Amino acid sequence: MIPRSGHTANKDVYEIDADIYQRFPVLKQAFVTVGQKDTGQIGIMFSLGKMFETMALNIKECVPGKSRIDYAFDAGANAMNLILGAYGMPNSQFLRWDPLYIPEFLREKQLDADPSGLTTLVKKAAGLYGSDLVGITTLDSRWIYESDLLKLFVLADEGHPHETDKEFVIPHSVNRAIVLAVAMDMELIETSPQVPASTAASLGYSRMGITAVSLAEFIRSLGFTAIPCMNDTALSIPLAVDAGLGELGRNGLLITPEYGPGIRLCKVLTDMPLNTDKPVDFGINDFCRQCLLCAEHCPSGAISTGSQYFTGVCENNNPGVKKWYINAGECLRFWQKNGAGCANCIAVCPFSAGFEGSQCVKCIRCDTTNSCSLQAVAFLRAKHGYLKAPLWGTKPISTLLTRAEL
Ligand code: SF4
Ligand code: SF4
Repeated sequence: MIPRSGHTANKDVYEIDADIYQRFPVLKQAFVTVGQKDTGQIGIMFSLGKMFETMALNIKECVPGKSRIDYAFDAGANAMNLILGAYGMPNSQFLRWDPLYIPEFLREKQLDADPSGLTTLVKKAAGLYGSDLVGITTLDSRWIYESDLLKLFVLADEGHPHETDKEFVIPHSVNRAIVLAVAMDMELIETSPQVPASTAASLGYSRMGITAVSLAEFIRSLGFTAIPCMNDTALSIPLAVDAGLGELGRNGLLITPEYGPGIRLCKVLTDMPLNTDKPVDFGINDFCRQCLLCAEHCPSGAISTGSQYFTGVCENNNPGVKKWYINAGECLRFWQKNGAGCANCIAVCPFSAGFEGSQCVKCIRCDTTNSCSLQAVAFLRAKHGYLKAPLWGTKPISTLLTRAEL
């Protein structure tokens, strides 16, 4: 992981309109609303029906990159995701909030170590279980979902995390989020929107499950509480921003210094007293204002070419945070037509590939050529071995930017 110390954000990483912002209910996710429109049923998986119809057609018509063998690779990659947590249903399968296999005598007494020692141990364990990046933040309750499909998430003054008929209850003592990123295979991602790009995501989900479940068991065996989460329970991207893993991009994804948006995120919530990391600013916000590559290559027109706003663009957005909102419903409709997930907005992002600071428009126009954060990160990517892909393009990005500047 590239040292973050040189990129600590000097100002708030979010602008939030407190009069508008509310915790997000899972019922507003595109997977739920699109599936409900298609089938009348409420769930995460009902939007897949139409995707499966296209998939069968793709196989029958021998569409390149969408053969039965391509789909078979994807099914295998997705297996552990479905076994462990199925993208994340809170407190279910192996994502259960109670210890899975930890004997009572290990759970009873907490390891006697200071926060620095515990933080070192947790980060070491995260890497051991498959995480490529790890950051820790105070758990901001605004990022906890307001509700899942049927039940509210409620914060309580005491007790253990548990579920009742109506609620998921998280005690205030669970005040840390360990945010874990697993890198995806960029060679597969670059085939988007063909099936191998979906396979990279599926493999990412499976690895997320293994990493989050393993880390939760590790923490429990040291006597602390742990809630392993995939996409469930809380919004991963703002937690990752808070934990210093990266910045939010125009494509609605976390852009990390090491892998750009080519990662998947999961998290473990805990009461272990851990030291926290700081948010970073390495210039993504400015860069995305001028770069439109993801928007230009989005087949559904879901990515904004405009400015950042506090208001959303569709029913699936949660307004109140100033950012580029994605039309998630349109994105998912394209997945259905495509018969597979899409990752164009990851594949084309300069930070997924071999971005070099000198390719930035700012090098042509601004007078901070040798000292900006993007230059520093580009140098560190090469130094720490993250600059493995060929450069994303020899053309200075500024030549692509005329539309953004109009
Ligand atoms: S996944 Fe594809 S369709 Fe969806 S926002 Fe990204 S580029 Fe657009
Ligand atoms: S492709 Fe360009 S605009 Fe889109 S997220 Fe990446 S850097 Fe930002």
